[in-house]
Amino acid sequence: MKYRLMDVLACPMCKKFPLELIVLSERELEGVEAPQGFRCSDYCGLKKAFLKDLEEEPDCCSCFSREIVEGVLYCPECGRWYPIIDEIPRLLPDKIRQEKDIKKVELAFLKKHADELPDKITKEGRPFNLAG
Ligand SMILES: [Zn+2]
Ligand SMILES: [Zn+2]
Repeated sequence: MKYRLMDVLACPMCKKFPLELIVLSERELEGVEAPQGFRCSDYCGLKKAFLKDLEEEPDCCSCFSREIVEGVLYCPECGRWYPIIDEIPRLLPDKIRQEKDIKKVELAFLKKHADELPDKITKEGRPFNLAG
């Protein structure tokens, strides 16, 4: 998932924008160059700020050419977390995440990265977490 997607992604359950991004691993895309003068439009995922609040022009070419391989999108409004697995953000509604196969994958992801993630996700995150 490219950083620039933070500019458009909202929580599928409560529609909160922007979401918080926690990056676990990322890579630079080779041979991918941002269009001349590219910049995020409202919210810059790399700077974690609205462009209007920044004093300097952010380097949004990186938002275009850096891919998050694994990470978590967290909704500060409703406390839900959404995994980024194999570069794909999985912004699914609760009902689908409760399906056995999906829940299994997402819980395994959470367990694998438990040490790298804050308690608000591992212990209190919705719709499920590791606290049981
Ligand atoms: Zn940007
Ligand atoms: Zn939400």
